[in-house]
This record gives sequence, structure tokens and C-alpha cells, in this order.
Amino acid sequence: MDCFTCHNNERLGSLPPRELVAADDHWRVAHAFDSALPGWLILVPRRHVTSIADLTDAEAASLGTWQVRLSRALHVVTGCSRTYVVQFAEKEGFAHVHFHVVPRMPDLPADRRGPRVFAYLGAPEEQHVDEQRRDDLAAALSAELDRVGQA
Ligand SMILES: [Zn+2]
Repeated sequence: MDCFTCHNNERLGSLPPRELVAADDHWRVAHAFDSALPGWLILVPRRHVTSIADLTDAEAASLGTWQVRLSRALHVVTGCSRTYVVQFAEKEGFAHVHFHVVPRMPDLPADRRGPRVFAYLGAPEEQHVDEQRRDDLAAALSAELDRVGQA
């Protein structure tokens, strides 16, 4: 199956920190690879699922916990004032369910608020948060999640 998310899920042990901020039996957390906004996280089920309705009860049970714990960690690590949580999975090749957990910074420009925050995603490559920065953010977020304890 040609699915970017499944490809990474299948090689969990060899993923760089930016692709494995955290994981449990049902979910994996990555830093978005094409974001111009530092700390933009992606929460994905470990199984190939293309509709939220197809998640199992066990997957659903920890979904809310992940969204809240990631939000807390983003507050500590990025200084965001809130988080946005969004799921579309409409982009070609990215039908695998994925929740965007986006740090809403206190100084987010008015023209980037709400759905317009997606202007930071798929931005020109030179604007992407570079790999080293994504790895550093992933390590800081992972340490924060460990500090407060696993769900
Ligand atoms: Zn998949």
C-alpha cells in the first residue's frame, strides 16, 4: 500500500525523533514534515484507517488523552496559548486518518488564525522547519511527555 504514514508505522524502530515524538499500541506522534510553524504535530493511528468511524473503541479510548497530553506538552515546550486540533485527510496520498495538533502561538498573525493556520503547511521548502529543529522539538516534547507520565 502506498501510504506515507503506514510506511513510517512499519519502521517504528528506525524512525528519527521528528517522526516518533511518542507512540503507544494505537497511536504515533510525528512533527509535520512540511510545516513552517515549529511544533506542528500529527497524531496518527498505527493501523491504516481512512475514516474516524473506523477507529476501534480501544483506539478511540486513548485519542482524547493523546490530544490533551500533546496540547499540554506544546504549551510547555512552545509557549503556545492554545492548540488547534483538526482532521481532514483529504490530500492525495495522505488519506490515513491524522489529527493535526497545532500550537496556536500568542502572536499568531490575525490572517493566520483558525483554518488559515494551514497556510503554514505545505509552505515553500525553504520555509519548512528544518530536520534538526524538528528533531530538537521532538526530543523536548518527548521529554515533557515522559516527565508528566505516560497515559
Ligand atoms: Zn496508512
